[in-house]
Amino acid sequence: MDMKYCSHCGSPVTVMVPEGDNRPRHVCSAGSCGIIHYQNPNIVAGCLIEHGDGLLLCKRAIEPRYGLWTLPAGFLENGESVEEGARRETREEACADVEILQLFTIFSLTHINQVYMMFRARLHEPVFSPGEESLDVRIFEESEIPWTELAFPVMNQTLRHYFEDRSKGEFNTHIGAVRAVGEGAGRRIEVAMLQQGDD
Ligand SMILES: [Zn+2]
Repeated sequence: MDMKYCSHCGSPVTVMVPEGDNRPRHVCSAGSCGIIHYQNPNIVAGCLIEHGDGLLLCKRAIEPRYGLWTLPAGFLENGESVEEGARRETREEACADVEILQLFTIFSLTHINQVYMMFRARLHEPVFSPGEESLDVRIFEESEIPWTELAFPVMNQTLRHYFEDRSKGEFNTHIGAVRAVGEGAGRRIEVAMLQQGDD
């Protein structure tokens, strides 16, 4: 993200490698507050909510990807744990109160500097409805998942791992890195899963 002025004191910032560091940072001008503005990935936390044989999906009422389906998820707030963030986003987007069961997927999206953490969860009560950011909230069985109308590749991956694990009768935690490769029209997303375990 580009930054021209210091968000702390309003002076111009310059891009330079601070002493003792090894990469360029936005640094407030000498003579002003001198703060180094570090930029780090944001965390997105969300829930994969099991209900009967199905999973809960929300139809987005906001951009980006208006009208497409997704799992309830959103940016973590300061002062919040990831599991609290996942439950809050679920309340906001699906008006549902959930119990967290397991951390299910972690994806590092290095091209947009985000880390997704998706939890398996279940409804405390069979109660849900569209929140302000959703047009619709529904339970989909595996055969009903709108694969071509999913908002984000990470959600697609999370759902695929879910149904794969469910068919094996065992849920594991899956860790992957999502990268953009290529330029212009040839630009595409690649997903590399960390191979875990003892096999
Ligand atoms: Zn400053």
